Parts: sequence; structure tokens; C-alpha cells
Amino acid sequence: MNGAREIHHGVEFENPIGTPVLAAAGGTVVFAGEDSGGELAPWPNFYGQAVVIEHHPAGWEQPLFTLYAHLSEVRVVEGETVQAGEVVGAVGMSGSADGPHLHFEVRAGENAYANSRNPELWLTPQEGCGSLAGRLAAPSGQGIPALAVTLLPLDSESPPIYLQTYEAGEALSTESLRENLAIWNLPAGRYQVEFVAGGLHRLEVAIRPGERTFFSWPQETSP
Ligand SMILES: [Zn+2]
Repeated sequence: MNGAREIHHGVEFENPIGTPVLAAAGGTVVFAGEDSGGELAPWPNFYGQAVVIEHHPAGWEQPLFTLYAHLSEVRVVEGETVQAGEVVGAVGMSGSADGPHLHFEVRAGENAYANSRNPELWLTPQEGCGSLAGRLAAPSGQGIPALAVTLLPLDSESPPIYLQTYEAGEALSTESLRENLAIWNLPAGRYQVEFVAGGLHRLEVAIRPGERTFFSWPQETSP
């Protein structure tokens, strides 16, 4: 919210109350119930009824966690093992929510608020779609936060997509990328990235199905 509020740590999936919420991957339930005392966030009753699943993906040294919040119903208990696609609860608006939706988070290493990563980079794009991650930095190398970025599809008549950067290298960035901009599920094709930083800049990126495209500005040059 233009720097006035702390950055949002998850992705919202708007759905009617009672819509089943499915586990994103297999794992062990490490939290199931009311976040009344602020067990999952710095504020009490922020996530309402919530579920957290711990995952150990092959090739990863540290655990990953997925968090499902604002549920109307929790259908698993702590310690339970779940498979990908298993129902863990139902969409609601418990806790700090102004309408029925699923708040979905990915946390790396530790189930802590500060360990959230942008979930858009961790979701598999749907068929024919890919994802885009970018890092927009000042000449000092510092990521530029809250920069308005427009994505114009060049191969279709689809409307532009409006994005905003977050702080690179801090909350939400995936360590290996240090991105401060990400979006999944972009239909494959060419896009023009536009933003104003000491003048108008335009870059072209290509999105390929099932792949992630990364761009940086200014272009990082290898020594
Ligand atoms: Zn949310």
C-alpha cells in the first residue's frame, strides 16, 4: 500500500466460504487450529484458523513450510501426514480478513513470519504458462522497493499486468535469485517490461511454458 503498510507475505485466492483447501505438497502438519496468540505472525489472531505443513523436498537441505490461513474449518491435526491434494480445511474469513479467501504462504527454513518467500515463485504454472522473476536495482546495487512495473503482452491482445517491486534481499526474496518482482502463470510469449527510474525504461522478456524467466536491471555484467 505505497509503503504505508508492511508488505503482504502471501498470495490471496478468492473463493466462496467452504471451498476445500488442498495441501500443495505432501508433508507433516505442524500447526492446525486458531492462531489466537500470534503463533504464526507478530500480531494475535492475524491468520485466524490456519494450517501449516512441513515439507522436505528432495535436494533441499532446509525444510519448507506452506501456510493456509483464514480458514472456516480445519480438517487435519498436528502430527498428521498429508499427501499433495489432500483436503486440509475450508476457505473462510477468520482472523484478519475482509472477505472469504485463502491466504497462502511459503516459508523457507523455519516456520516464522520473517521466513516467508514470494509464493508466486514456488507454484507450478498451469499448462502453457511460465513465470517471471526480476531484480530492479539502483546504481548502488540496492533493490528499488515499491516501483510500479507494467507488463505488456506483445503476442496477444491481453490487458497489461501491473506489478510492484518489494525489497530485494530481505523479506520475500528467494535467496538464489534476490528478486524483488515475481509473477507466476503468465501465458507463454513475449512481454514488454516498462518502468520509470530516472526515465522510462523498456525491456523485452520471453516466457516459456513451464519455465522461469529471470531479468535484472541494470543488466548484471559478469567480470
Ligand atoms: Zn493475505
